[in-house]
Amino acid sequence: MKYPENITETIEALQGSLEQLARWGVRGFDCSETSLETLEQWGRPIEPPEPVAEGLEQIREDLGDCRRCGLSDKRTHIVYGEGNPSARLVFVGEGPGYEEDRSGRPFVGPAGQLLTRIIEAIKLTRDQVYICNVIKCRPPGNRNPATEEIAACRPFLERQITAIGPEVICTLGTFAAQTLLDTQTPISKLRGRFHTYNGIRVMPTYHPAYLLRNPDQKRAVWEDMKKIASQLRIPL
Ligand code: URA
Repeated sequence: MKYPENITETIEALQGSLEQLARWGVRGFDCSETSLETLEQWGRPIEPPEPVAEGLEQIREDLGDCRRCGLSDKRTHIVYGEGNPSARLVFVGEGPGYEEDRSGRPFVGPAGQLLTRIIEAIKLTRDQVYICNVIKCRPPGNRNPATEEIAACRPFLERQITAIGPEVICTLGTFAAQTLLDTQTPISKLRGRFHTYNGIRVMPTYHPAYLLRNPDQKRAVWEDMKKIASQLRIPL
């Protein structure tokens, strides 16, 4: 067969290279799929790796035995949050009360039992949603958290929300709504319609502890929950 001159040169160069490799002891080539794929990548620009989203465990580890504010002196347990790590719906309360501080779990006291019933009313369970608070340690005597206590805790709440990536956040009570939405507007004016936090729909509603004192407001909360169910396409 007659090859064009440059092909002949190429073959001679290849032959020379193969003979050299043979002298060095090479007896064969790895033509496996993996090797061929590796070769194919050579010379291509290196893509930066996708950033790995942090998980709830990582954030809990960073929180550690938190001493970032004075609330740590009087707490029994940090109340980090619990539920489905990829929940479509996240509930955010104010901060742990007596029972939550004792147990380390959010919303387990009387207000928590009412919250459980509210969740079940929209055909969900506590395991399907995620429940947490703005403040992770109980303020003594259930007083309102101070500005510096909120500032110390807020980044952890924000990271929890980012890690979960819910479709809807339901804030419970004045404090959670005003903190998350960065507003001073009263809860009576905020509730009943969706707001936005980092592209996520936020429905502020009354706190279950407030409902225990004002049962006539349960109807308003039910209206808010129906809007959440509709947003999540849950038929009631
Ligand atoms: N009230 C809250 O805001 N959070 C709890 O976890 C319990 C009561």
